[in-house]
Amino acid sequence: MGTISAEPRRGSRAGFDVERVRGQFPALAQSINGQPLAYLDSAATSQKPRAVLDALSAYYEHDNANVHRGIHELSRRATIAFEDARGTVARWVNAAEPAEVIWTRGTTEALNLVAMAWGLDNVEEGDEILISVLEHHSNIVPWQLLAQRRRAKLRYIEIDEQGRLVLDDLSRLLTERTKIVAISHVSNALGTINPIERVVDAAHDAGAVVVVDGAQGAVHTPVDVQALGADFYAFSGHKMCAPTGIGVLWGRRDLLEAMSPYQGGGEMISVVEREQSTWAAIPHKFEAGTPNIAGAIGMGVAIDFLAEIGMEAIVEHEQDLLSYALERLRPIPDIRIFGPDSLSERSAVVSFTLGDAHPHDISTILDSAGVAVRAGHHCAQLVMKHFGVSSTARASFYLYNNRDDVDRLVAGLAQVSAIFA
Ligand code: PMP
Repeated sequence: MGTISAEPRRGSRAGFDVERVRGQFPALAQSINGQPLAYLDSAATSQKPRAVLDALSAYYEHDNANVHRGIHELSRRATIAFEDARGTVARWVNAAEPAEVIWTRGTTEALNLVAMAWGLDNVEEGDEILISVLEHHSNIVPWQLLAQRRRAKLRYIEIDEQGRLVLDDLSRLLTERTKIVAISHVSNALGTINPIERVVDAAHDAGAVVVVDGAQGAVHTPVDVQALGADFYAFSGHKMCAPTGIGVLWGRRDLLEAMSPYQGGGEMISVVEREQSTWAAIPHKFEAGTPNIAGAIGMGVAIDFLAEIGMEAIVEHEQDLLSYALERLRPIPDIRIFGPDSLSERSAVVSFTLGDAHPHDISTILDSAGVAVRAGHHCAQLVMKHFGVSSTARASFYLYNNRDDVDRLVAGLAQVSAIFA
């Protein structure tokens, strides 16, 4: 429960056994519509390993108490496990210290926190915020809200026909008025892996602060926030084997210290007086109210679980599956696959349409064969518009998927083609 992981093991694929990994996810061992479940929707949310489920019930059965506020045994235990989990996250992303790790509800709340705390303090009328067409709505709408409140201007990095950022004119898009550049590490809609370091260097040269939406990045690549060089990195637990309702904002200490609080309430204060209050030190300044204690502990355990397998082994496995999936999907007549051609530029997501079949129909037919994929705009309406579609079907792979899942997807799509022929 909330144990501190050793130095995350990057691991090698030699010891990776997908069947053993699958065995640790109880939800995968079920039938859907009379067929074994092939869960290809991990980009929306991942399944949870037994270790995380056990940690949640152990916490509620033995240690449940509020954190930081009590001196009784249960509160002490809960606080230690909660703060240990923060340390685990800090080591996992190579933060300089645990105080730079703020617990949030997820990526969405983390991005809103930066927009409303750093943004309202630092963005003025006429300033510019640079984002991209590739973004999830979570990394668009908070900046629109900020821009409206501050009368700032929102500018966009465009994407090309393969859904890659067009960075040739980055120096034109970055001006002395650019205050924030907010960019995703990995696209949820297409799987594109963005060259973050390049964006960070150019943005910093222009004097802007860089916020990375790592909701998919933290899942599909080893993250080293110090090496990336960004100023903020946001990610969600539920996409990386942890419970829903817990996520992280990592930020550089100097920026976090200079920021105003995002929300007011218990735990985030130092002294409260009638007219005004003073704030607790980071990270608590940004954690008003009772946090998701069980979720945080579960996230620590999820990271221990992933570290034990090794991120490099996981990435290698995902890339192998992606390559196999593309090899099997590309020859299907009338399929249109979106995203970069090159494997090195994409992670384990395949977004596609099939002839005239509506993605919702594709998903429904696949579901009847026990194959779970997502259909819709994937909270990326600007990406859909760029490609002239209103939605796509999306199969996404994670550490517990195997080649059989891919074969089942391909067989299901043959049914879709037959029905729509
Ligand atoms: N950004 C990206 C790239 C995502 O994939 C998601 C989740 N689909 C989010 C942001 C939002 O994450 P959450 O809903 O966990 O806050």
